[in-house]
Amino acid sequence: MKTDKGRHALVIGGSMAGLLAARILTNHFDRVTVVERDFLPEEPQPRPGVPQAKHVHVLLARGKQILEQLFPGIDAELTAAGAPSVDWAADCLWLGLWGWTPRFPSHVVTHTCSRHFLEWVVRRRLTAYSNVQFLDGTQVRELLTDESRSIVTGVRVHSRNDTQETELTADLVVDASGRNSPLPKWLEDLGYSAPPETAINSFLGYSTCWYQPPEGFQPDWKVLLISYRPPENERSGLLYPVEGNRWIVNLAGVARDYPPTDEAGFLEFASSLRSPSIYEAIKNAKPLGAIHGYRRTENRWRHYEKLSKLPEGLIAIGDAVCAFNPFYGQGMTTAALGALTLDNCLHQQFQRSQNNLTGLTRRFQKQLAHILKTPWLMAAGEDLRWATTEGGKRSWVTQLMQRYMDRVLLLALDHPEVHRTFVEVIHMLKPSTALFHPHILLRVLRQIGASPKEGSSKVMTNSLTHSYNSPALHHER
Ligand SMILES: Cc1cc2nc3c(=O)[nH]c(=O)nc-3n(C[C@H](O)[C@H](O)[C@H](O)COP(=O)(O)OP(=O)(O)OC[C@H]3O[C@@H](n4cnc5c(N)ncnc54)[C@H](O)[C@@H]3O)c2cc1C
Repeated sequence: MKTDKGRHALVIGGSMAGLLAARILTNHFDRVTVVERDFLPEEPQPRPGVPQAKHVHVLLARGKQILEQLFPGIDAELTAAGAPSVDWAADCLWLGLWGWTPRFPSHVVTHTCSRHFLEWVVRRRLTAYSNVQFLDGTQVRELLTDESRSIVTGVRVHSRNDTQETELTADLVVDASGRNSPLPKWLEDLGYSAPPETAINSFLGYSTCWYQPPEGFQPDWKVLLISYRPPENERSGLLYPVEGNRWIVNLAGVARDYPPTDEAGFLEFASSLRSPSIYEAIKNAKPLGAIHGYRRTENRWRHYEKLSKLPEGLIAIGDAVCAFNPFYGQGMTTAALGALTLDNCLHQQFQRSQNNLTGLTRRFQKQLAHILKTPWLMAAGEDLRWATTEGGKRSWVTQLMQRYMDRVLLLALDHPEVHRTFVEVIHMLKPSTALFHPHILLRVLRQIGASPKEGSSKVMTNSLTHSYNSPALHHER
């Protein structure tokens, strides 16, 4: 399978994974086409193909770094366009598993803008590449292959502007069509197997409302985060500022304890969290429009890396391969890591075999699977704390990890440097092994030796009184 310096690459889906993959493809192909079924708005606006954009979307610090690497200056552009910046320890009033977490400058700083705003800024940067073309309002209907069905040669598309279907040829087709990707079915239609899937579902539901903060309200935080506490408390909430001097407020419930989407129910759910801080903040704030619900939140991994046969000239990336429980904010950053993996694979590919794409598909899917392992274990490990979660196994290793994490979180209340490491790990700046560094591990062991009973309420209460304290607003129920 020879290409002319990799002539044409085509990406299915113009959301975050598609945009970042397209950016990488500009390094390796003469032309890149992004085919998106939605008409892409000129301004930062929600669109039907990405319904999740109405909900909180935290771009983790590692994702922010990768965006800056791919689009130098984008960070400053986001700031200039009005995206607030947040230090996830200093600016965040966070009721974690055992109590309020310490507040100090952690330098884990990200922008807290809306999802459609972020996507719009990234898309605008990508359109500046002269070898990128967007075909919006166009849906990919099926894959085209050579006669032997062993090489994907393009796609058949349907434009929403007319009734005609057309064929587009490409040397590489990238599926970035999201959680509902039709690729498993397309593969079956071509005589291949669909990938085996792993799904783990904690039955988490979101309700999100946007607010105008009350006039003159000047809190000492930018972010309010009230975590649930398994097994007895299934409810959590997150409030953070976004562009246009607005707050986005998300309420979440696990185990089908879905938050309501009517105003009175939303406020009541907010007031039922482990701390009333979010309720106190929003009770006098002005809601900006309807409250949106979302329940499609299971972790779902399509294991393309396990298929022994796949056609050449095709890869899958982003949520189309692995969609996470959104609670942990990993989707966009993992899509960015996937894009970097694609860059490495293409470099190696073209160095090795001069514009020949043979073998790329399997090599890429295997390398992608490798980077998906850590975020998957983090999300699945947390979801398996709930007895009601379906799928996956509560192995002794998972349980041991959960108990260790409980200890680390308890330690973090009184040790800002431990909290910093925890924040760096969840923002993917450090590997999870950082939480097993001797300076944490030894303290955890000492703590176990010192405390009479694991998780005793005495230990918790002491830690609570040591940590950040301010008025009744911040008390835990
Ligand atoms: C409620 C919720 C909250 C989330 N919160 C976070 C968060 O805090 N942080 C985070 O990092 N991630 C979060 N995520 C995940 C994040 O939205 C995704 O991981 C991220 O958008 C990357 O997804 P994607 O580009 O692979 O797919 P998607 O964003 O789903 O986009 C797929 C695109 O493909 C297009 N498309 C589909 N089929 C076709 C076709 N046949 N032809 C042409 N176009 C097609 C769609 O219109 C769409 O534009 C959240 C997800 C949900 C559901």
